[in-house]
Amino acid sequence: MPPISPSEYPIEFAWPDITPYAEGNTGVPYVHTFDSGKPGRHVMVNAVTHGNELCGAVAVDLLFKLRIRPKQGKLTLGFANYEAYNNFDPANPWVTRQIDENFNRLWVEHRLDSAEDSVELRRARQMRPIFDQVDDLLDIHSMSTTSPPLTLFWGNQKEQEAYLRTGYPTYGVGGPVHDAGKRIIEYTPFNDTSNDKTAQLVECGQHWADYTRKAAIDTTFRFLVAMGVIDQAEADPHLYERNPPAPTVLEVTDGIMAKTDKFQFVQPFIGLETIADVGTVIAFDDEEAITTPYDNCVLVMPNHRSSKGQRVLRLARPV
Ligand SMILES: [Zn+2]
Repeated sequence: MPPISPSEYPIEFAWPDITPYAEGNTGVPYVHTFDSGKPGRHVMVNAVTHGNELCGAVAVDLLFKLRIRPKQGKLTLGFANYEAYNNFDPANPWVTRQIDENFNRLWVEHRLDSAEDSVELRRARQMRPIFDQVDDLLDIHSMSTTSPPLTLFWGNQKEQEAYLRTGYPTYGVGGPVHDAGKRIIEYTPFNDTSNDKTAQLVECGQHWADYTRKAAIDTTFRFLVAMGVIDQAEADPHLYERNPPAPTVLEVTDGIMAKTDKFQFVQPFIGLETIADVGTVIAFDDEEAITTPYDNCVLVMPNHRSSKGQRVLRLARPV
């Protein structure tokens, strides 16, 4: 069958120069902490875990430019894979997702504590003491298709509650279905149900689409209000979507990996489509038909650029 994949995407917004933030004030490059001097949560907004996901850099840069400061507790702003981001090339935008490896698969002790070396492992070891201190984390990402924005969390009740309190974007997707390695939001302190630390990962939309930039800004401001960092009145002038629909939680039931390099969807799905009937063919992995396992199955983050061994799709249903 012929390959079906979305066409290339234009870069619709300007991305900031983040090198002025290189020095930081925490001893960790590209990480700044603002301390209110009052008790409260330590809240962090993290950008560019993937170097070509520009919307987070826009949102964090805006927080710096507006001189946003916490009314209580601490606010930390960071640019994770700044080396990949600083190499972003609009003529070749897919290649700067990472330098050596995926920064968002390293968050297991046996890798962080190992003698292995990569650009991303070195950076993860720099940032680990920061994530060890943070109470509430927002990690800003974007996607390969023009999916509506969605938030991912691991599936702990505390994280679902944090998403619902943030209230944006409209869909929150939780469930312990994941491929090799761990994301920052699954790093041990956040996954430990005996504490009240929370982490959520927002996927704001297609990497370079302007709606994605707006979703990153809206999510960031709503998160800061929800976590008690700033007042609603301070956020309001910067919000694009004034009255978003109520948040909806979807439970991830399955993660689908490509077993071959010939994985093809039968339609150019963008994500968050609901497939009505169980047994509907949604893709072929070489000769093998991939079908929906239940009625009203929601497709989450289809990956049209997969190769063998990569995740190509999550399946979810409303809770
Ligand atoms: Zn990402």
